[in-house]
Amino acid sequence: MSRYICLKCGKEFDESQLSVMMTIRCPYCGYRVIAKTRSSEVKILKAI
Ligand SMILES: [Zn+2]
Repeated sequence: MSRYICLKCGKEFDESQLSVMMTIRCPYCGYRVIAKTRSSEVKILKAI
């Protein structure tokens, strides 16, 4: 399962928490720029 990390508050969360929001957004602070982390790479996702 993919893990995500918020670039503002730094909290980590997983895909199921993200899908609840129906958008790319931190479930803790609502910030819209998060990074998708996999074992060896980090991909920045920015919601428009
Ligand atoms: Zn956050």
